[in-house]
Amino acid sequence: GQLTTSLLYLDGVSVSFDGFKALNELSLEIAHGEMRAIIGPNGAGKTTMMDVITGKTRPDEGSVLFDGSADLTALDEAAIAELGIGRKFQRPTVFEGHTVEDNLALALRAPRTVFATLLHRTRTAERERIDTLLETIRLTDKRGERAANLSHGQKQWLEIGMLLAQEPKLLLVDEPAAGMTDAETEQTAILLKDIARTQSVVVVEHDMVFVRALGVKVTVLHEGSVLAEGMLDHVSADPRVIEVYLGR
Ligand code: ADP
Repeated sequence: GQLTTSLLYLDGVSVSFDGFKALNELSLEIAHGEMRAIIGPNGAGKTTMMDVITGKTRPDEGSVLFDGSADLTALDEAAIAELGIGRKFQRPTVFEGHTVEDNLALALRAPRTVFATLLHRTRTAERERIDTLLETIRLTDKRGERAANLSHGQKQWLEIGMLLAQEPKLLLVDEPAAGMTDAETEQTAILLKDIARTQSVVVVEHDMVFVRALGVKVTVLHEGSVLAEGMLDHVSADPRVIEVYLGR
């Protein structure tokens, strides 16, 4: 393997479904502390890529190196989560019957390692952590509200807070802006940029306005491999990217 200081390194990853290559020798590097947006037309392989990183799908070829660990492709989903990869799926998953605060407390008490349990053992520490998380996800004034009463956008933020409670080294976020109002979308971009100051994040997203607001490096996937990479203004001027998005 190559000497790399990347947090995540996908090297020549291929996945076939009945002979169809959903990922085709995909190589991708995410640096420590980086937030990256992954875009690409439907069927480009974005979901499959996330599935490979989290161990839901095992690739036919290639390796996935994470944080100096052994190849993730040899591990199962639970083991990969333990290593510190948190995934936010498109639809919000929160405990509807519990308050915002209790949702965060539950996430804090269901940590990914025993060490984290020890870290959060004292109630005072937990209280402070919850206060910080509530501020991060802009739900301080909703702390006592049942999650069921939150808007769609607020539920998404709460789930992001629950994932952050588990202190992942890498946060994977699948289309956070889907189904959000314009105001919520705008707020989500601000929130993620905030989080990305201390946290590595990979965001898969269709909404170009949202991706532009993130203002981070973008990877364009097409037919299971990287078509272009760079800032959005740069890649969106790339004739190959224009053709893939508009030319058919
Ligand atoms: P994206 O998330 O970019 O829309 P996907 O990763 O979902 O793309 O899909 C990539 C390609 O692989 C698509 O053509 C899709 O139909 C196919 N695919 C994804 N998952 C499966 C599966 N479980 N079985 C068969 N084909 C699949």
